[in-house]
Amino acid sequence: MRWGLIGASTIAAEHMIGAIRASGGEIATVLSSSPDRAVSYAAKHDIPKGVTDLDAAMDGVDAVYISTTNEKHLPQAMAAIAAGKHVLCEKPLAMSVADAVTMVKAAQAANVTFGTNHHLRNAGSHLAIRELIATGRIGTVLSVRVFHAVHLPPHLQGWRIDNPDAGGGVIPDITVHDADTVRFHLGEDPVDVVAMKTASGMGQGVEDSAMSIWSMPSGAMVHTHESFTHRFAGSGIEVHGTEGSIIARGVMTQAPVGDVTLRFEGGEQAVEYATHGLYDRAVDLFSKACAGEGRPAADGVDGVKSLAVAAAVAKAAETGTRTAVDYGG
Ligand code: NDP
Repeated sequence: MRWGLIGASTIAAEHMIGAIRASGGEIATVLSSSPDRAVSYAAKHDIPKGVTDLDAAMDGVDAVYISTTNEKHLPQAMAAIAAGKHVLCEKPLAMSVADAVTMVKAAQAANVTFGTNHHLRNAGSHLAIRELIATGRIGTVLSVRVFHAVHLPPHLQGWRIDNPDAGGGVIPDITVHDADTVRFHLGEDPVDVVAMKTASGMGQGVEDSAMSIWSMPSGAMVHTHESFTHRFAGSGIEVHGTEGSIIARGVMTQAPVGDVTLRFEGGEQAVEYATHGLYDRAVDLFSKACAGEGRPAADGVDGVKSLAVAAAVAKAAETGTRTAVDYGG
């Protein structure tokens, strides 16, 4: 499959170019808003064409991977869909749920494959956790706690910490991932949320930390904590059930790492899991879906729903009120 990269981004350089090539894909073009950067990024990553024109970036490609800043996802995805390209888009899909719904409906109408690049549901650790829950190993789920307070590395401390118009802030950046991960594990969608947010040393005009509590249709409660400012917290997820608990540490990350433990009456056991690359699996499944086989790991509807939860968290934190999640119809 021939790909165009829409955005000369860090995530493409660090993870997605390798994953696309590992899947057998060929990267034909890269789009940047800067002519110099288009050329230098293309040269550095051995991409034949670096361009500043979106049509030129889509010329002769089957699929685009959109990893520009968040406010650009909508117009770029709509143009790609109109040109008949398959779209793998970064999270959050857009700046609003309504815009994300527009993109996903347009892709459905044009009969192109649309994927959202939620990497965590591709991790062997998370696939193992989901399997434990689905096969009843912890009984009925009572609650989930997500620890996703990290320290944003200096090279990513640009628009994320000071530009709300580009989609900055920890809620669009990390809460969306937690929403997708919880939906993936529990197989249900949060109903309503309460939340608080703050700036704790990094955010300038955007929040760099958030905590929220979500109610689930089953009655399970979910508690999540996201931050850019925590150097030593480590990440993790715990899923507590009537017959056992899953304690996973170091798994809310981009690499296939971390420890998963199943705790039950009378003991606990380490859970083995596959250690394939998260982005490799995401690209593989997306590519197969484009060829008519299966579906992307996270599709457009998943991307709409993760954004809807994050938008409800943002609104709840803003207003101080319990807020229903609006999935956009
Ligand atoms: P970057 O800041 O690296 O890239 C975003 C844009 O910033 C690029 O498209 C590029 O613009 C510009 N840019 C990047 N580096 C430079 C530079 N050195 N000098 C000048 N301009 C630069 O963002 P990320 O790669 O971290 O994030 C991009 C998207 O991917 C976001 O939507 C984010 O939410 C998502 N993301 C998803 C992850 C996941 O695991 N699913 C992980 C990380 C990010 P131009 O293209 O115009 O050159």
